This record gives sequence, C-alpha cells and structure tokens, in this order.
Amino acid sequence: MGSKGRVLMQKYDLGRMLGQGNFAKVYYARNISTGKSVAIKVIDKEKVQRAELMEQIRREISVMSLVKHSNVLQLYEVMATKTKIYFVIEYAKGGELFNKLAKGRLKESAARKYFQQLISAVDYCHSRGVYHRDLKPENLLLDENGVLKVSDFGLSALSESKRQDGLLHTACGTPAYVAPEVFCSKGYDGAKSDIWSCGVILYVLLAGFLPFHDDNLILLYRKISKADFKCPNWFPPEVKKLLSKMLDPNPATRVSIARIMQNPWFRKGFSSTYVTTKTEDKRKDLLAADSGDVSCENNNTLDEHKEHTDTVTSLNAFDIISLSAGFDLSGLLVKNEQKKEMKFTSMNSASTIMSKLEGIARHLKLKIKKKDAGLLKLEGSKEGRKGVLSVEAQIFEFSPACHLVELNSSSGDTLEYQQTIEQSVRPALKDIVWAWQGEQHFQQD
Ligand code: AMP
Repeated sequence: MGSKGRVLMQKYDLGRMLGQGNFAKVYYARNISTGKSVAIKVIDKEKVQRAELMEQIRREISVMSLVKHSNVLQLYEVMATKTKIYFVIEYAKGGELFNKLAKGRLKESAARKYFQQLISAVDYCHSRGVYHRDLKPENLLLDENGVLKVSDFGLSALSESKRQDGLLHTACGTPAYVAPEVFCSKGYDGAKSDIWSCGVILYVLLAGFLPFHDDNLILLYRKISKADFKCPNWFPPEVKKLLSKMLDPNPATRVSIARIMQNPWFRKGFSSTYVTTKTEDKRKDLLAADSGDVSCENNNTLDEHKEHTDTVTSLNAFDIISLSAGFDLSGLLVKNEQKKEMKFTSMNSASTIMSKLEGIARHLKLKIKKKDAGLLKLEGSKEGRKGVLSVEAQIFEFSPACHLVELNSSSGDTLEYQQTIEQSVRPALKDIVWAWQGEQHFQQD
C-alpha cells in the first residue's frame, strides 16, 4: 500500500499521501468513473484489532455514514480487505486550518468565521447524538473554497496525534485540547467535552498559541483542571467572557452550544447553512441494530487476530482512554485508585525502557518469548502453582520522550505475578518510572 498510481477495488486511482497517523495513512484518490477527488484513509486492521477498537469502529462507521453537514467531512464509503479498512472521505483541498496560523494569529473576523462553522458542525452532530471527542487542529481542514470541514466526527476510536510542530502541540504530545473531566476518567458528557475543545480552538485561532501549556505533564494537567489560562489583551471583551464560560472546568456549569449560538459576538454575520441527511429517519434503526456498514472483500471477518506489532504505538489521551477502560489519568494528580493493572509512565526513550525490561528479565531468569518494537513477552523458566508465569510489557508512545508502559500477565498464578512485580520488577524499574498509574495494590515509590 502506498504506491502512487495503484488502483483500489477497481474504483479509485490512488495518488499521493496527504497525511499519516498511528492507525492510518490518508491518500488523495480519484473515482475512476466520475473523476471526483476523494481522500482515502487506509487503516491497518491489525493495529486496530490489537487495540481492540474494531467493535467501536464498526459502530462509529454506522453512525458516521448518516451524518451530513456542510462543515463535516463526509464519509462516502467504507471498504475492507483482509488486512486494511478503507474510508473514502470528502477531499479537503485546502489542507489543515492550522497551517494558516503558521503565519501568525488570525484576524478577529476570520477567527469568528471558522469558529461559527466549527460550532455549526458540532451543534449538528450533537443534535444527532454524535460526539467528536477529539477536536484538535489536525481535524480541522479546509475545502477549495476555504470552508471549514471537521474530520473524523464520531471516529474517536481512530483519533491520533502525531505532529510535533512546537506551536500547537506541546513537547509531550499532551492533551492540550482535552477537557479536564476526560482525563480524570469520571465518565464524561461527550457534548460538554467537545465544547471545551472548541474553546481551546477559539483561543488558539485568536492568540496563535495554546491557552494551556507546560512542558511538565503534571503541571499541564493541573492548569487544565483549574482552567488556569489568561487571555491576551487583544481579545475582545465579549470573547474573554465567552471563553471563561466554555473553558469552565466543571462540565455541569459549562456553557451549552445553544447558549454559544445566542452569543452576540458569535452571531455577528452568522448564517446557518445545514445540509442534512435524507436518510435521517433510518438512523435510529441503524443505531439500534448496531449494524456495521462495512463491505468486505475476500469474505474475511473483521476480527482476525495476529499478535505482532511493527512500531511502538503512538497514543494521545483519547486513544489511551479507549484502549484501556481502567486507565485513569487522574492518577497523575491524586493517587487513590484501586487498580489491578500495572501501568507506569516514563520519560525515557522506548529503547531505554526496552533494554531495562530485558535486563530485569535476565536477572529474574525469565525467557524472552517475543520481542517486537514496543512489545516484550516473557516467560518463567519453571512451572509455578498454576503453570508457567508469563509477563507481557507493552510500550505506548505519548511522544518520543514520554511513554506509557503496561505490564500484564496472561498465564500463571496471579499472586506469583504480583510478588514478582512488587518484589523484583518495581524496585528494578525505579530509575525509569516517572509515575505509577492509579495503583494501590503496590506502594508508591
Ligand atoms: P487524520 O489521520 O485524519 O488525522 O489525517 C492525517 C492528515 O491527512 C490530516 O491532518 C490532513 O492533513 C490529511 N487529511 C486527512 N483527511 C483528509 C481529507 N479528507 N482531505 C485532505 N486531507 C486530509
């Protein structure tokens, strides 16, 4: 996949690559029979399956295929082969909105125009029960007429954050756009967290920099959870007021979309141009039936499973939350959660973490059963009470210098596993662990 000039499903001529994320590559393509330009997002099924996101993606596709709005990139078609999923999407010729910010902050009128289009898209999708959950610069694209198009609406399972351009992303690929309640894992209202992200986006459009920024993750989370930000003096007073209501750390009192749309600053020159779906009535049935809208080639099921990874998986906050329901970033703020799973963050490189784990394995006389980038499978050399102990370590990437490591055991005695971890592994990991996540099982170092 990836070679220019390839024909896909006898229907699309694939062109250049437009962008890349963790799970997907996006290509320009042309429909051979109509000549129409499209973007094709190619998703590696194996990676999605490894992350156990297939079911979520199936559900989201069924919802997405029925969402139609002039400010939301339309999903035209979904196809699948044995190894890949292809999303055929409306092509946004103008590229990313935030490329415009490379030249500096936007004028108030331009920022308002994009903000109106963003809110319009968000309002439409929310009214249909679809939440974005990962609104951020990469998801705001422009068509050839400069109209804002929000991408990946409802496809939160595929959210990804890979660019490291310094201005709009902090050093650690941190959740600068994420609402406080999201990373506190208290269960959150998708609508309210989207509103928070829209507030951050409005701020960035007018300021040219982020409202919350800190090289230290803990301090960044603290700033976000207290909504500790200051508006530059060139922000109009109405905007300052609006932002204080959108960036309210309490989702219960945070302003609603309806209220934002009544705001006089927002309303200036606003015209709502909804394009709604003809098949709206069918949506409820589809949601109820939860039927996947995926056409499969080669009769392959979508749930094949292969245990292998090519690269360290790069994650953003949403990925982490989707990947692991038990993972609670609030552990970074308050260490009081009772969790069985072992996870820690490290400010070391993936290779340093891997060498450390291998060293520990050698010391504990554990055999290395498998080693792929980011994944290490270890096995005990003798039978324990309930068979041979196996330990698996998976490294996920926040950024090249910031990782999350998950330790698991798939076989052997739980007690033996916990004792091994507590008495041998934890002390040995001490110098590379930045913070253990939400564990009460094991004492904090
Ligand atoms: P994504 O994986 O959706 O974040 O896409 C990665 C990058 O590919 C985006 O940041 C865009 O630069 C580009 N891209 C994604 N979708 C489209 C599209 N429909 N039209 C044009 N460019 C796109």
